[in-house]
Amino acid sequence: MDLKQQWEAILIALAPEISRANLITWFQKTALLGFQEGVLTVGVPREFFLSWHRTNSQEKIRAAASAFLKNIEKVEYVVDGTLDHPGDERIVDILALFPSGELKVRKLPNRAEVKIGGEIVSKMITAKYTLQNFVTGPQNRLAHAACKAVAADPGTAYNPLFIYGGVGLGKTHLLQGTGNEVLEKRPNFVVVYLTAENFVSEIVDAIQKRKVDKVREKYRRIDVLILDDIQFLAGKDRSQEIFFHLFNDLYDAGKQVILSSDRPPTELELTEDRLKSRFTMGMAVDVHFPDYETRLAILRNKAQDFALIVENEVLNFIAYNVHHSVRELEGVLKQIRAQEEFEGVSPTVQSVAKILRKLYKDQDIFGYDEEREVPGIVKSMDDIVERVADFYEVTKSDVLGKARNREFVVPRQVAMYLCKKYLKHSLQRIGFFFGNRDHTSVMHSLAQVAKNRKNDPQFWKDVNSIQKELGF
Ligand code: ADP
Ligand code: MG
Repeated sequence: MDLKQQWEAILIALAPEISRANLITWFQKTALLGFQEGVLTVGVPREFFLSWHRTNSQEKIRAAASAFLKNIEKVEYVVDGTLDHPGDERIVDILALFPSGELKVRKLPNRAEVKIGGEIVSKMITAKYTLQNFVTGPQNRLAHAACKAVAADPGTAYNPLFIYGGVGLGKTHLLQGTGNEVLEKRPNFVVVYLTAENFVSEIVDAIQKRKVDKVREKYRRIDVLILDDIQFLAGKDRSQEIFFHLFNDLYDAGKQVILSSDRPPTELELTEDRLKSRFTMGMAVDVHFPDYETRLAILRNKAQDFALIVENEVLNFIAYNVHHSVRELEGVLKQIRAQEEFEGVSPTVQSVAKILRKLYKDQDIFGYDEEREVPGIVKSMDDIVERVADFYEVTKSDVLGKARNREFVVPRQVAMYLCKKYLKHSLQRIGFFFGNRDHTSVMHSLAQVAKNRKNDPQFWKDVNSIQKELGF
């Protein structure tokens, strides 16, 4: 066996011990580099792989390898940047070695089509959305909890459950996740998911064929009815009326109804006022755009799903600069994947900045500056901090320290901004220099500067004077 075959055998042996997502994330670009004098050397493509491997894989690799290599004393890791290049011969193709469908998604029966009485009524539940892979934060926790409660006990807890909020914030995910969870616990339940748009076209069709009664009859046999985007019922009076009766049938029979909309029930433009009041009988919860930490957690999860390796600094940068919907977060990751696949480009703050620029034409992007090269007299962060401190008449240690008074915070933010802009150091490095701060706090400072620049002309004049003094 050559090294590659040995590595393949080791991976196969340790696979049951490690989740597929982790296998793909952390072993994708690894190789066995050698085995000498009891030391097994494993190559990893980048520095930041080391800490995961040291805590999670060392013992497992040793155990797996001992099956056919005698006297292994230890496992060592070496960073080998060339492993990062596509097509390195030593790498085992993990995706080919461990093929199988979606990552992290439990296998569910295919519910693409639910048949009732031989007729197909729903084509849309996808196994990809589960309540488990929905990341919660303060902005969606209540909605998620309500879905969990409904899935545990459909028809009793909250009926109807009404989820509302803007585009791309996870409503469909929650609705389908709830449907999937019900089906998992009660495989015999008839769970039907459809959009209000599908519903309306079914009704229109039934009216034409004079089969409205039949539709109603059919829907009565549903245990959980999930209707997405019901704002679409606005102006569709006949559908509203039919839905009203349908709702009552189901509700009276103790069946669960779950609805979503882009606005709260009271603001729906429905001619059927009775419908609105029905919608508020159960529980109405909203979802909002998640905060920074939750966005970051979502990105981490999705990056794993996409089998993408993205460094923390880059994930932070995305989380910081996406402002509207979770769908956009996903969109950025998809483009990263495309860049990697087609151009062999591993994601960096710089490459992602390009993607974001295309996405947000008129928006400032924080944490990265494409300005000119570093000119002139300034060589170090120390120089910058000194000039900034002088200008604002504070001391250097005030600028680098922890005090949160405005008279220190502003110079600190300006100094960080200038360090990033002219020296182009990483956020980590700047954070470390400024009193061992987290890189997210550096990012926050940069955002603050961009904001003040817009709102406070005097502030920006000051910054410009400092830049002149520094010779920029
Ligand atoms: P909506 O129906 O509100 O327009 P979606 O449910 O279609 O939004 O969500 C858009 C995308 O974002 C989906 O791919 C979904 O999986 C993802 N998403 C939204 N919120 C979350 C979350 N909290 N955790 C994980 N993925 C999320
Ligand atoms: Mg939706």
